[in-house]
Parts: sequence; structure tokens; C-alpha cells
Amino acid sequence: MKRMKTLLLSPGEIPLAAEIIKKGGLVAMPTETVYGLAADALNGQAVANIFKAKGRPMDNPLIVHISEVSQIYRLVRVFPEKAQLLAQRFWPGPLTIILPKSDIIPAEVSAGLDTVAVRCPSDKNARRLIELSAPLAAPSANLSGSPSPTTLRHVLADMNGRIDAIIDGGDCEVGVESTVITLAGEKPRLLRPGGITLEQLRETVGEVEVDPAVMNPLKSGEKAASPGMKYKHYSPKADVVLLRGSRDSFISFVNSVNEKKTAVLCYDEDMQRLELPYISIGGAEDYCTQANRLFSALREADEKGYDRVYAHCPDTQGVGLAVYNRMIRAAGFEVIELE
Ligand code: AMP
Ligand code: MG
Repeated sequence: MKRMKTLLLSPGEIPLAAEIIKKGGLVAMPTETVYGLAADALNGQAVANIFKAKGRPMDNPLIVHISEVSQIYRLVRVFPEKAQLLAQRFWPGPLTIILPKSDIIPAEVSAGLDTVAVRCPSDKNARRLIELSAPLAAPSANLSGSPSPTTLRHVLADMNGRIDAIIDGGDCEVGVESTVITLAGEKPRLLRPGGITLEQLRETVGEVEVDPAVMNPLKSGEKAASPGMKYKHYSPKADVVLLRGSRDSFISFVNSVNEKKTAVLCYDEDMQRLELPYISIGGAEDYCTQANRLFSALREADEKGYDRVYAHCPDTQGVGLAVYNRMIRAAGFEVIELE
């Protein structure tokens, strides 16, 4: 890829970012989940450039970001009642809804599928950029395969010289990508867990199936409902090893390990008990903080040059399911059973 000069913009310069988008350029924007790499969702060529900048496989569709619920009508063919209920309760916020797409969605956005993913973010800078430009197609603003960026520093590390501009909006609040639910099939189905929990979705629309790819690797030859779930994801260069069992058995296991360049991803309560270097991701039951710190911790492990990182297999309740889903992918689905 030819290198270009990447402008670093403050929130006050969002009008300039909007001009770049309208001309078909690429801008990294803060959102409440992770930083997104945005282009005009209705400009197929601009959207194609997102895939180039990230090295993203062309068969992995993008989420279209809107700033008002009313903007969804021209993007989809139907907006069923359950989708309306979800939008009413969780938008603006970290929930993506998949529906049958309208004809104005370029094939690049939906990667050839007949559906489109739509989200209305709550981050004020993202919303201002959308208001001043267009609906924005935006995946996470990282190189494909590496952990999603939750700080300006992460975006610079991956994207400097590859895109037109970055808006500095500080650190992201949720820290993992949005929850993705499809309403394009017979029953609502969770494709990716995130900041809006499965429990909250069920309270709002009743039964919600969980796609097998949320917890397990795809079997060979199986087709992914959400193409993004089939790729090795969120992985640092270090080898991530997940250990399932009580926290006591986890601590005695890692304390018995005699390896150099190895660290432990741990909970705040366990820091004092560990003999290896550690990076804490929050309290053992504080799933929101764990989600918020996970990607930063994985990047930090690489920056510190660890070859291996041991982590405790998280609980799957509430936002814990999102932490579990990202960690198990970072670990390439390998879990060691401790007891
Ligand atoms: P990212 O924005 O990088 O977090 O990726 C967006 C996620 O949403 C990926 O896992 C995609 O596969 C998924 N996605 C986007 N559009 C669709 C769609 N139409 N059907 C199923 N999954 C989708
Ligand atoms: Mg991504």
C-alpha cells in the first residue's frame, strides 16, 4: 500500500473529517465500543478502500452507522416490530441489528449478502460525524486479525499512514465491539456478544438463539452466519493459553510454570498471589471492566515482548459472555481443563 499522510484531528475539527468522508476518504472515529474506520456507506469505492487499509477479507461485511433511528428506513427492506423494540430500548448504544438490505447498500458493505448490519452509536463525536456526512460503513480501526483499538494510540499503531485522518476522542467506554443480533431469519439470533447482554435482549424480544460460533469454532465446511466469526481474531502475537477451573487452581497452575517471557492476565483480587509478571483486567466479577481492558491488555502483552500469556477462562454471564467470546478467539479455541 502507498503510504499517505494521516491527519490527527480534534473533535472540533469533525467538519473537516466530514468533508474527507464526502470526498470518498477514510477517517478513524471514536465510538463507545471501539474505534471504527469509517467511509461513506453509500460509496462502494470508498468502502472497498476500508478493506485495503485493514487487509480485511472482502467476504466479511461491515456495519452501517446511523445517527437517528429514522435513518434506517432507506437502508433496509423491512423494519419488523422486534427490531423496533430493540432500537427503542438500546439505541443509541452498542447493539447492531441485521435486517434484509435495500438496494442502496453497495455490495462491498454487505459482502454480497442480502442483509445489512445497522447500528446507532451513542458516542457524541461519532454521531456528529454521521450528521455532517452520511451513513458510515465502519469496521474496527485495526489491521485485520489484531485486537480492536480502544485508544488513539492503538489506532495510530495500526493505521498511521494508511488512512486520511483520525479523530481523537480519548479512550472507548465499552471496549469490545457491539453486540450483533440478526432479525433476518426466522428467530432472533445472537451472532456476537457485546455490551448489550443476551439477558437484556431476551427481556426485550423473548426467545433469542445463540449462534454456535459465539462459543465454539466452526466445524470444517460449515458456513458462518456472521462471516467475521470464522477468522482468527483479536489475537496478539503472544500465544494466549486459556485455563478453565477455579481461580485457586488457576493460580497454583501459573505459579508452577517456569517459563521466561510469560505473563498472566489476571483479576485485581489475584495480583498479590502471582509469581509471574501480570496484567490485570479488573475485578473477577466486574465483567464491564474486563471488557473495557481486555484488548489493551493483549496489546500490552505484545509491547512488553511476552511470548505466552496465561488467562483464566471467564464466566459467561452478562457482559462476561463478550469477554469469553473474544478471549477464546485470541486463544485459537484452546482451553486447558484444570480439574
Ligand atoms: P467489525 O466491525 O470489524 O467488528 O465487524 C463487523 C461484524 O459484523 C463482523 O463479525 C461481520 O461478520 C458482522 N456482520 C456485518 N454485517 C453482517 C451481515 N449482513 N450478516 C452477518 N454478519 C454481519
Ligand atoms: Mg473488527
